Amino acid sequence: MKRRDILAAAGVGLAATALAGCKEDSKSAAAPQEGSSSQTFTWKMVTSWPKNFPGVGVGAERFAKLVEEMSNGRLKVRIYAAGELVPALEVFDAVSRGTAELGHGAPYYWKGKVPAAQFFCALPFGPNALEMNAWLHYGGGMQLWEEVYKPFGVLPMACGNTGVQTAGWFNKEITSVDDFKGLKMRTPGLGGEVLTKMGGTVVNMPAGEIFTALQTGAIDATEWIGPYNDLALGLHKASKYYYTPGWQEPSVQFELDVNLKAWETLPADLQAIVRSAARAINGDMLDDYNAKNMEAMEQLKSEGVDVRRLPDEVLARLKEVATEVVEASANADPVAKKVWDHQKAYLQRLYDYAESNEKDIYNIRG
Ligand code: CA
Repeated sequence: MKRRDILAAAGVGLAATALAGCKEDSKSAAAPQEGSSSQTFTWKMVTSWPKNFPGVGVGAERFAKLVEEMSNGRLKVRIYAAGELVPALEVFDAVSRGTAELGHGAPYYWKGKVPAAQFFCALPFGPNALEMNAWLHYGGGMQLWEEVYKPFGVLPMACGNTGVQTAGWFNKEITSVDDFKGLKMRTPGLGGEVLTKMGGTVVNMPAGEIFTALQTGAIDATEWIGPYNDLALGLHKASKYYYTPGWQEPSVQFELDVNLKAWETLPADLQAIVRSAARAINGDMLDDYNAKNMEAMEQLKSEGVDVRRLPDEVLARLKEVATEVVEASANADPVAKKVWDHQKAYLQRLYDYAESNEKDIYNIRG
């Protein structure tokens, strides 16, 4: 057994220690070329998702497989489902402290620690997946994201998006803005803050706990992702109404977290492979969601699910409150403010362009 394997088997959490072991190995190997050495790495990847979970969970698993294939086995990624190594909502912390070299989750899960993270994830009545990714990859968003996570020793990469979500599952009918008063609902991020301002009580809980909470009446409503994932969780078996549209999350951007110290020990070609795999999965997951959400919605309707649209009056009020909430959230944190000022200006340009072209096609096409 090579030293690195012994270290991995002993569960050594510090990547730097394990990787120092790899370096010693490589010295004895036949003169590896810089950037394409023969040394191998086995990294842990913690995720916020249940095992084999459609869409987002499968996307994280595809990332691991792709990295291993592209690197010809030089970088192996062991995936851990939510709760296997760390709880779903502690992925960022685990990568930050080096318990795992990689993590996959939704940026707004760590808004308590990094308030600005929400702006890289989802904004109520905000950007769709295409707009979010235009800002991230060609509008300066990624540079800001890296800057925001750097003090935590984490390198972020965009790695998957759900596309437009749904407003969620309700056991109480929503006919007016007053129906949100006293409503107990699971929804994270800024959308949750909007509901709080509307008089609701908001809780955040990972996927594994939602069905029971809804079934037992611990919550009156929940949103999760969209038809594809909601069907997988069986939410239609625990609630009366399924509301659209997903005002709270016109897209949710997922992230790959990389421990910076571990990253710096990777040869340049493996770094390029990690970046390319993240980029590939970023697009692949959206394709998966777009196809499967449609199929799952067809199935839910065929099973008699009562799919409804939130009333115009309700959506108008939600939008007003959302605008206030986003501004207040940005103003409460200087880093978030810097991100939002940049993002807001860029998104407005994208929205103006969409208004003049893309939106028109949707309206005419039907
Ligand atoms: Ca959601």
